[in-house]
Amino acid sequence: MINGISQSKAICQPKSMGIGLLDSQSKSIPTFNLFETEPWLLDVAKKAINNFHIPWHCDDALIAETKKEAIRCLAAGVRSKSFLNELVPKVFKTKRDATHGIAKITSCGHEAINLYRLAEIGEKRFVWRYCELLCDFPEHSKLDGKEFSLNKGHKGEFPSSRYGCRCRGSIRMPT
Ligand SMILES: [Zn+2]
Repeated sequence: MINGISQSKAICQPKSMGIGLLDSQSKSIPTFNLFETEPWLLDVAKKAINNFHIPWHCDDALIAETKKEAIRCLAAGVRSKSFLNELVPKVFKTKRDATHGIAKITSCGHEAINLYRLAEIGEKRFVWRYCELLCDFPEHSKLDGKEFSLNKGHKGEFPSSRYGCRCRGSIRMPT
């Protein structure tokens, strides 16, 4: 029976063999970090975030710092508490708002990578996916399920290319 147990353990709890598998030897769940395996993708995200328009009424230096923090969050998956503490009195009312603000900016980077990857596999178009709970622009519901060019988007607008939009672009289904 001991053999039986250890065998089933071996099947159910594989030792860490790479990204995404639960390491039974460790109490913490290993995190998947795209940028460790493909660091160049971070440049795609950086470019998108640096070009991102943030509709805040504060000075350019603070916006630049915030973008830097968003890129850091994207790469490391964590937010620096000291940065949030500084940002809260200057831009946001609460820490929670600040966290959401950073998440909205990182979303732009994530989606830029997503669309880049679609183009990379030879796609010319994408399908706009809207989620009412995540996107701040109700008018994006009209774009849901529609196809747009990966070059032009919808009148130059792409999923997550506006602050507060967390729409996604997905691959077209074969017809
Ligand atoms: Zn949207």
